[in-house]
Amino acid sequence: MVLRLAQRKLILTIAGFDPSSGAGVTADLKTIAAHELYGTACITALTVQTTQGVLKSEAVSAGIVQETLDALFDALPPAAIKIGMLGSGAVASAVADFLRRNRPPNVVLDPVLRSSSGADLLDKEGAAVLRNELLALVDVVTPNLEEASFLSGMPVTDVSSMEEGCRRMIGLGARNLVVTGGDLDEPVDVLAESSPSKSVSFRRFPGQKIITPNTHGTGCAFSTALACELAVGKTLGDAVAAAKEYVAGALRMSYSLGKGTSPINHFFAAER
Ligand code: PLP
Repeated sequence: MVLRLAQRKLILTIAGFDPSSGAGVTADLKTIAAHELYGTACITALTVQTTQGVLKSEAVSAGIVQETLDALFDALPPAAIKIGMLGSGAVASAVADFLRRNRPPNVVLDPVLRSSSGADLLDKEGAAVLRNELLALVDVVTPNLEEASFLSGMPVTDVSSMEEGCRRMIGLGARNLVVTGGDLDEPVDVLAESSPSKSVSFRRFPGQKIITPNTHGTGCAFSTALACELAVGKTLGDAVAAAKEYVAGALRMSYSLGKGTSPINHFFAAER
């Protein structure tokens, strides 16, 4: 790979640490590097986690998060930010406060509630901050069906409820959303874009079902790839298409590492 560090835009990931590097900040840094951009990271929580699941998680102090974000924003201003696992209400509030004070560009929020293996990755207070504050402070929110159901307050299970859920989340202050429907029998993502007058336009992105057991970190990679594509100036629709293509390639070229659910292959493009 030709290193063009001086020209690289900065992407900041605000997320948890997964020691198996399938999800969280280390996976996000791989995604950012695969897009030939420079990644910085603010760790919100530590997890004890492998490909076999999350055994434990502990949020870092809100003060450390706030100081890290302020220091990074001053020295290394990001062209885009991805927000993932937040862990606690105190950390979620510190991130909301950072966004209110600085109004950074191209902020993508992956509203992580739970791991695919079923572990809670955000406490109750944090979930309230996500819905009542963060939703309205970012440019794009990328919920899966479960997260969209929580945020919208209605069951989101198919394309029409994905669209109705988006209308409700826009009513709560969200600007743009991509509801990811990778778990549906016929996978489709729904992009909802709102105008300043709050009219909503929808676009559907059908996907192919990629049969692989190596799916750990799929949601993290999608939201981070989306932030990268927005940073380099793509429109939201084009950025969604490119991020989907990146994740599809990383799933297709994934390989098994050991026990449990292995990660996707973030660097698949370099291996072709
Ligand atoms: N661990 C961390 C630190 C994460 O940030 C996330 C997702 O955002 C997960 C685990 C969940 O990943 P998965 O749903 O692929 O298990």
